[in-house]
Amino acid sequence: MKIQSHKKEKLYLLISICLSLFCWIGLGVMIVVQPTILVVALPYAVALFLGTFIASGLAHGYLRGNAVRISQRQFPEVHTLCERLKQRLQMKETPLVYLTEGNGIVNAFVSKFLGKHYVVLHSDTFELALEQGDAELAFILAHEFAHIQRKHLSKQLFLLPARITPFLGKAYSRACELSCDRIAATVSPRAGVRALLCLAVGNKLFRHVKIEEYLHQSREDAGVWSVLAEVFSTHPSHPRRIREVFAYVSVESEQAASISAPMRRRHLVGV
Ligand SMILES: [Zn+2]
Repeated sequence: MKIQSHKKEKLYLLISICLSLFCWIGLGVMIVVQPTILVVALPYAVALFLGTFIASGLAHGYLRGNAVRISQRQFPEVHTLCERLKQRLQMKETPLVYLTEGNGIVNAFVSKFLGKHYVVLHSDTFELALEQGDAELAFILAHEFAHIQRKHLSKQLFLLPARITPFLGKAYSRACELSCDRIAATVSPRAGVRALLCLAVGNKLFRHVKIEEYLHQSREDAGVWSVLAEVFSTHPSHPRRIREVFAYVSVESEQAASISAPMRRRHLVGV
């Protein structure tokens, strides 16, 4: 499967690599020229690394000790879906997927510890699949798998200087989200918009949201503060993600099937 990342991801990645490379080389030169910097900074760097490592280890320990892991014996249909996604995205191995309580929030995320990736799925996201079939779940899982396939987490340490640079780090993160939405939309085009609506309003009400009206409202309500809110966010707004998925997926082949019956076609015109 050909991966078509969002063009902004390529742009921000290039800028991030250049900036990070410059910072790391600059740090190396400073240490060579003034070795005492290393003596002063090393204890802080080690303490920061250990603190992050231990916090991450505890979080993963809690996850492995409490969450339900998807396997051939535990929710085998979802396991089969994960295997299908792994093959479709040409991944070397299937990520471990854990199911956990999300306090009513429809969401999923991916994390990494000691070289292993974990996808965490909130139970409300999973319930959606039980009620609606697995198309929306496939989109959400494919989005998370895409983060792994595109090595977004693996690049985090090297790109640290760029990630903490105001505006650039968040802009790159948002572009990565749009890339993963694209990949997920390729895997599960019919369900992409529905899945994004679920993230916006939950797994019950999303069926009743009029998409055209929602997108129109987002344009109407747009202003300085909503723009700023997105600039400081790691994720694009839901309406923007929906528009991007619409723009990416072939309208001719997918529009009739992408929205549930009451919303069909009428709400797609002009989007
Ligand atoms: Zn994501």
